[in-house]
Amino acid sequence: MKPVYPHAETAEAIRANLAAVRARIDAACRRCGRDPTEVRLLPVSKTVPAESLRAACDGGGINLLGENRVQEAWQKWQALHDLPQLRWAIIGHLQTNKARYVARFAAEFQALDQLSVAEALDRRLQQEGRSLDVFIQINTSDEPQKYGIAPEEAERFLKVLPAYSALKPRGLMTLALFSSDEAAVRKCFIRLRETRDRLQQRHPELAELSMGMSGDFELAIAEGATTVRVGQAIFGARNTPDSAYWPNLSQSPQ
Ligand SMILES: *Cc1c(COP(=O)(O)O)cnc(C)c1O
Repeated sequence: MKPVYPHAETAEAIRANLAAVRARIDAACRRCGRDPTEVRLLPVSKTVPAESLRAACDGGGINLLGENRVQEAWQKWQALHDLPQLRWAIIGHLQTNKARYVARFAAEFQALDQLSVAEALDRRLQQEGRSLDVFIQINTSDEPQKYGIAPEEAERFLKVLPAYSALKPRGLMTLALFSSDEAAVRKCFIRLRETRDRLQQRHPELAELSMGMSGDFELAIAEGATTVRVGQAIFGARNTPDSAYWPNLSQSPQ
């Protein structure tokens, strides 16, 4: 089933979609007995032009935006950095040679999956005198083409992270299987939660679970998501195929 995402050409349309997604988050929380304030909505603005974002963010309502690609995020940050409340989360795979950009402007980085990236980020952050909230990306679907650390490798990875003192680990992030098989998607979310629960015994700071996107955020909430990353349900369907963001992906989402 391919969901039809609402158009969002104007700031009003974006705000209306945002309100609708928030209402769906609240309803999903109520269904599983969770407090809606436990779930943070991260609007994902990749491919949305800076000027549309400016209009949508003006007057509040959006104070954090997620971007998959550093270069695109960097350009939007430059275009919009007169909006004082607006912070940026990088949610896509990072190459070490782009760490300096992230260290300059990002408020959080959700796709930490390599020590070389941790090292490069920490070095640049120390130079900037900044720290950065990070999420460790976990590969919960066992697909070799997906980024992320295997769940059973996470403990070892976390053990060495304190060496990079500018990085503040907040939790785990995953991309679930892209499938219409709800049980298979749910399994990824459960796996992330169980990995977090296991790690939290030694790393209580790992409270967050970033999981769920436009097609599956309600399911993710039922399995414990504390951050949902939602793009198309707020900003409308993208023209760029998702394979542009997740290379080698043969299947398209849902
Ligand atoms: C684009 C993206 C999302 C949001 O996907 P939608 O289908 O637009 O909701 C979530 N997480 C990551 C890592 C993304 O790149």
